[in-house]
Amino acid sequence: MSTRIVVVGGGTAGARLAQRLPVTLLGEEPHVPYNRVLLADVLAGRYAPEVIALPETREPVRLGVRAVRIDRAARTVECADGSLVGYDRLVLATGSNPVLPPLRGLRGAELPEGVHAFRTLDDCLVLRDRVRPGVRAVVIGGGLLGVSAARALAALGAEVVLTQQGERLMERQLDTYASALLREHMEALGVEVHTECRVSGLRQRDGEVTAVELADGFVLDAQVVVLACGVRPRVALAREAGLDVGTGIVVDDELRTSDPYIHALGDCAEHRGRVYGLAGPALEQADVLAEVLVRDVPAAESSRYSGTRALTRLTLGGAQPLDLASFGEATPQPGDDVVQLTDATRSAYRKVVVRGDRLVGGVLLGDLAAVGTLARAWEGDEALPEAPLLHLLTHDGGS
Ligand SMILES: Cc1cc2nc3c(=O)[nH]c(=O)nc-3n(C[C@H](O)[C@H](O)[C@H](O)COP(=O)(O)OP(=O)(O)OC[C@H]3O[C@@H](n4cnc5c(N)ncnc54)[C@H](O)[C@@H]3O)c2cc1C
Repeated sequence: MSTRIVVVGGGTAGARLAQRLPVTLLGEEPHVPYNRVLLADVLAGRYAPEVIALPETREPVRLGVRAVRIDRAARTVECADGSLVGYDRLVLATGSNPVLPPLRGLRGAELPEGVHAFRTLDDCLVLRDRVRPGVRAVVIGGGLLGVSAARALAALGAEVVLTQQGERLMERQLDTYASALLREHMEALGVEVHTECRVSGLRQRDGEVTAVELADGFVLDAQVVVLACGVRPRVALAREAGLDVGTGIVVDDELRTSDPYIHALGDCAEHRGRVYGLAGPALEQADVLAEVLVRDVPAAESSRYSGTRALTRLTLGGAQPLDLASFGEATPQPGDDVVQLTDATRSAYRKVVVRGDRLVGGVLLGDLAAVGTLARAWEGDEALPEAPLLHLLTHDGGS
């Protein structure tokens, strides 16, 4: 009898596994699996929703089905519609939930009309319906998600204010100079950027948002508010089943949880103390797990997951596209070598940080011609060649 593999979550990781193996895939969302990374393009109206569908899975996905409980003794998953699904191996690919900030006027998970997270295709479709030229929109959070959302809303003609609590945009990925270039780029698109700006509350009338209150007493009118304050791994199902959970669901190098019959991967998983929250690692983990599940015997080196050293790449599309890539530590420590090239007229910037004979981080903005060379050096983690370090930034063409 063949092994029954059940996967909970039809996002990036779950769908990739279901392309590799015949599995029962339970997906809470009503849409066929789609590429979440491209949601900003759907919001901006550049792509129709069907364009971002992921390649087909081996078996049809059970859409609109939410798993609500795992019975580890009986090896069954209970779904919200009351059905029970038996498994031999269970895979949790439940992704992340948006973080809802502690704001006055925001109670529980119930959001006032006009206030939206930016996580799902439904979030984008509802937002797109609401945003008309001239609508005042406030985006809370100046990380990757907030920047993408602000650009998309501006492309729809909204008057956008982007509020960032930290000192600069995309602090996790960019250094000070690259953040400043990104800010200029956003402002050129008509987005008003406020840094070191804490939102403290929302005002509403008849259940509909009307304004955003700032901690310094300032009030911004808003008909649309987008919450882009980060994500948190979705671990409730695992926790209630008694699995080990840290920040994410704790897994070993075979993506196995503390129950040998249950695996976890993607945004919900914590491997060697790390939760990635990125598409590249989710895909890599799914490929490794497909091998582990096919063999279902103690794995050889080749089908173990040892972590992902992937570059984060982002294209902010539209009339004036801007490419970004970042990896590792973009801010040097004492003793590190730093090489950088700046072309202020073209808003282009390339920088790498080198420690000893290793590349430890870098940022590219506006011009990704060197990205191929850098990705190979970073992902391979090999000693750098003897050539002058500047060559790392000028050896183009391998992207
Ligand atoms: C707007 C946006 C832009 C992004 N841009 C980038 C980028 O440029 N680069 C990058 O690397 N990453 C980016 N990311 C992050 C990337 O999308 C995620 O890291 C990736 O999707 C993680 O894949 P996953 O399968 O773990 O989770 P998800 O893709 O979130 O999928 C999880 C799925 O599980 C479902 N689910 C959860 N619980 C249950 C349940 N109990 N029963 C049934 N189904 C359930 C959810 O509804 C969801 O469909 C972006 C994310 C967003 C939202």
